[in-house]
Amino acid sequence: MGRAIARVTVASSIVIATMWSPTPLLAPGVAAQPSTAALAAPADYFQFPLPTWEPHCLGFGSQWRYCNGTVLRRCSASGAVWLHTGVDIKTAIQPVRAAANGVIIGYIVDPTFRGGVLIRHQTSEGIVITQYWHVWPRSGFKVGTVVTRGEVFADIADMGSRTHFHFAVFMGDFDSHTWNGALPPTRCDGFPAFPYYFVNATTFVGAHLPPVSSRAARHCRMDAQP
Ligand SMILES: [Zn+2]
Repeated sequence: MGRAIARVTVASSIVIATMWSPTPLLAPGVAAQPSTAALAAPADYFQFPLPTWEPHCLGFGSQWRYCNGTVLRRCSASGAVWLHTGVDIKTAIQPVRAAANGVIIGYIVDPTFRGGVLIRHQTSEGIVITQYWHVWPRSGFKVGTVVTRGEVFADIADMGSRTHFHFAVFMGDFDSHTWNGALPPTRCDGFPAFPYYFVNATTFVGAHLPPVSSRAARHCRMDAQP
């Protein structure tokens, strides 16, 4: 156990050359998390991490290209363009909130894409992991930190004219592909085919929003009446 915890520390501080490469060394860290994860309240409801949710250039399943069309990655043999596992959202630099109750299980830094964070949620549908890219965690938020839905844990990273937010939802527990921002259309180069365990993050959150309080809604309507 002690050795596993040490691995978590290493994984949380590691800087890798590219986030899209396989990172199997991160996998052992998650196994050390269940006792911490058990402390997090169940995540029955989700919310969008930003106050507005306007699509940027890439949606779920879009070919993985910069906004100017430049391809980011292809399969080496077939040339097939990889597909985007998350949704990109227009944003300025602003606070980023946890989508649901959970535990931060990963933080890596990529020189091009800045910080990536994974939050693990225990839901009635099983483990769900939310993925946040191009963010910087705030001080005090690291691997093992328990967060609650709506809690500000990070800020959007400055990427100049490319500044945007990438958010993905992974339906399952952590593995070496949970970090991926894109996957090939068919299995190649050691990567599984899109969508793997990823789902459309906007659709998922939209389907798991907290119910509007009927009491509050009724109260407001009554207030509006003379
Ligand atoms: Zn993206």
